[in-house]
Amino acid sequence: MKKLNRREFVKTTTVAGVAAAAAPRALFGQAPAVMTKGVKPVVIASANGNASKDADGITCVQKAFTMITKGSDVLDALVAGVSIVELDPNQTGVGWSGLPNAEGVVQLDASCMHGPKKRAGAVAAIEGVRAPARVAQLVSDETDHHLLVGKGAQDFARSMGIKIEEGLINETARKQWLEWKRRTDPLHYLDPKKRAQAWYDTGLQMVREGLIDGEHFWGTINCDAVNARGEICGVTTTSGLAWKIPGRAGDSPILGAGLYVDNEVGAAGSTGRGEANLYGLCSFLIVEEMRRGAHPKDAAITALKRVAKNTIEKRLLNEKGQPNFGLSFYCLNAKGEYAGVAMYQSRYAVCTENGPQTLQTEALFEGRANG
Ligand code: ASP
Repeated sequence: MKKLNRREFVKTTTVAGVAAAAAPRALFGQAPAVMTKGVKPVVIASANGNASKDADGITCVQKAFTMITKGSDVLDALVAGVSIVELDPNQTGVGWSGLPNAEGVVQLDASCMHGPKKRAGAVAAIEGVRAPARVAQLVSDETDHHLLVGKGAQDFARSMGIKIEEGLINETARKQWLEWKRRTDPLHYLDPKKRAQAWYDTGLQMVREGLIDGEHFWGTINCDAVNARGEICGVTTTSGLAWKIPGRAGDSPILGAGLYVDNEVGAAGSTGRGEANLYGLCSFLIVEEMRRGAHPKDAAITALKRVAKNTIEKRLLNEKGQPNFGLSFYCLNAKGEYAGVAMYQSRYAVCTENGPQTLQTEALFEGRANG
């Protein structure tokens, strides 16, 4: 199969509404998408979007890209893509197998936004479902609301025909939770401040010891895409912070924080320390920066600088006085330009006519979060 070089691709795709994304066809052997706006389709995601695979060995970004270039609705494609990650039993930061809250209960958050429809949906702290992104999409499509939480979200999912499973927890995650409990709570409860610190230190210690995958102590997937017609959508889905206080919702289900899409401008979404992102509503900020003409990379750097400036608590700073946590943004604009940008260098996934790739992010700071 011949891959088109850039010039050939541009020539093919700009010659008309005609010809559609020839390269995707070259790449995946599928029918072309209709090109009416001349945008090159792009799917961007956190790195796990090119790690977990379905039974056919296809990753999230690859799946979404293939569906989009075959003409599927962009959000349908993204929800199908992220479900590969949500259903992967080895993912301890996304979907049913995510690390549980402090009581050993898995509570999931997800949101989605459909640019052309100008609609969005989200669920927070939902229990008993394996793949919450689809529930968020149903909130968007079937209700007049955009955020359902806890038992209400679960009842809604059940009413939509989604299977609810009591006590849904992955065996590995349950064992890790027990270990955390044993280490942090020998006398049941420390005072709240010490407990929060113990939580953080213990979790990171477990990462250092290799008990928890560092990428999944936090762990989320954000996935955004633009198709050849310039239609933009996004989705973010997570099990949130490991060992969180029950009921805690992070940035992922909050529009403007974990995800924001404006069909005229672009999309942005996040992974990492949700609380830091929530204070700045950074996905909204990034989209607004792009609206003013900033490239996705510069827009995300502006957001990360804002987060760094607003991080003043000592417990959240490393020896250099910089944030001691990770926060990453995945952004694309209506022209199909994109960037993965992080507080400290990390990785992100992308799928274009060149196929799926895992790339290094741009970073605000050199080195690592912990100095
Ligand atoms: N942002 C997510 C949250 O704070 C966690 C993550 O991305 O790992 O819930």
